[in-house]
Amino acid sequence: MKIILLGAPGAGKGTLAQNLKTDYGYAHISTGDILRENIAQKTKIGLQAKKLIEKGSLVPDEMIVKLLIEKINSLKTDDYIIDGFPRTLAQAKSLDKILKVDYVLSLKSSHEVVIDRLLNRLTCPNCKTITNRKWLKDDVCPKCHTKLDLRLDDNEEAIRKRLEIYDENFKTILDFYKKLNILYEIQADETPEKTYDLTKKIIRVKYDCQEK
Ligand code: AMP
Repeated sequence: MKIILLGAPGAGKGTLAQNLKTDYGYAHISTGDILRENIAQKTKIGLQAKKLIEKGSLVPDEMIVKLLIEKINSLKTDDYIIDGFPRTLAQAKSLDKILKVDYVLSLKSSHEVVIDRLLNRLTCPNCKTITNRKWLKDDVCPKCHTKLDLRLDDNEEAIRKRLEIYDENFKTILDFYKKLNILYEIQADETPEKTYDLTKKIIRVKYDCQEK
C-alpha cells in the first residue's frame, strides 16, 4: 500500500501519518524530516536546504526527488506513507515514473486554521510527536518527555511564504491525481481524531477488499 498525503503546511499530514503508522504499521516518509535530519547532521544537502527552509522556500526538485528515491529504496517494506511530497507538478510526474500509488489523500483546511496551528506547533526531536502548545501545560513531549522544539520555519514570514507556494502549486497537483483516479479529499479543519476517522473510512474500503 502506498499513500501520498497532500495538504497545506499545518493541515495535519504529519499527525495523520503517525496515526496510520501506529495502527496499520505503514512506514512514514516525510521529506521535511529527511531534510531536517540533513540539517542536524550538517551535511552538504542540509546546509543548502537550511537557507531555503528558513525562509519558507522549496528545495530544488532534483534534490528532493533523489532523497525520496534513496529513502524508498532503503525501506524493507512496500507499505508506506509519503508526506510532504510532491509539492510541484514536476515532482508528481517524477514519482509517477517510479511507482504506482494507491491513494492520494488531500487534507483540506482553511488558511486561518493552519496559521493558528503552525504558530502553536511543537515537535518532539526524539519521537517526532507533533503537538499543539494550547493542549499542553509545559513544553515537554506527552509521549517521551523530551523537551519539545519549535520548527525554524514556523514563524509568520515563512508561514506566509509556504502558504503562497502551496496555493500556487496544489491545483495542478490535484488535477494530475484526479486524472489518475486516486485522489480523495478529506476535511481537515477539525481535530486530528476527526481527520483520522474520515481517513480510515476511505482506507478501510480498499483494505477490506484486498483482504478478501
Ligand atoms: P515539511 O516538514 O513537509 O513542512 O517541510 C519543511 C520544508 O522542507 C518545506 O517548507 C520545504 O522548504 C522543504 N521541503 C519538504 N518537502 C519538500 C518537497 N517535496 N519539495 C521541496 N521542498 C520540500
